[in-house]
Amino acid sequence: MQTEIRPTATEQRVCSNPNCPHGGQVQPLDSEHFAPNPNYAGGFKTRCRDCERKTRRERYQRKRDEELAYNREWVESHRDERNTYQRERSREIMSVYKAAIANDEQSA
Ligand SMILES: [Zn+2]
Repeated sequence: MQTEIRPTATEQRVCSNPNCPHGGQVQPLDSEHFAPNPNYAGGFKTRCRDCERKTRRERYQRKRDEELAYNREWVESHRDERNTYQRERSREIMSVYKAAIANDEQSA
């Protein structure tokens, strides 16, 4: 009787992340649990999908924080320009407003 060779889909792997939510437990080495990537040995990434998800979320949050900080910085460094713009804009609005009042008074 021949020894049955198990297909690779039944392989299992422990996620390489020490802080993995699965806590070092083996998971089936398939595309449901590990992201396929031909650059990695075995054709799958060494971190499980849950860790990938977590990393992606953290990266997104960090990126968002960076972007918010960048925006704050931009506002700080362009404060004068912004003030000038807003001053001119409100002057413009006021002149239109005054003109409208003047028109009203003329027609009244
Ligand atoms: Zn993991």
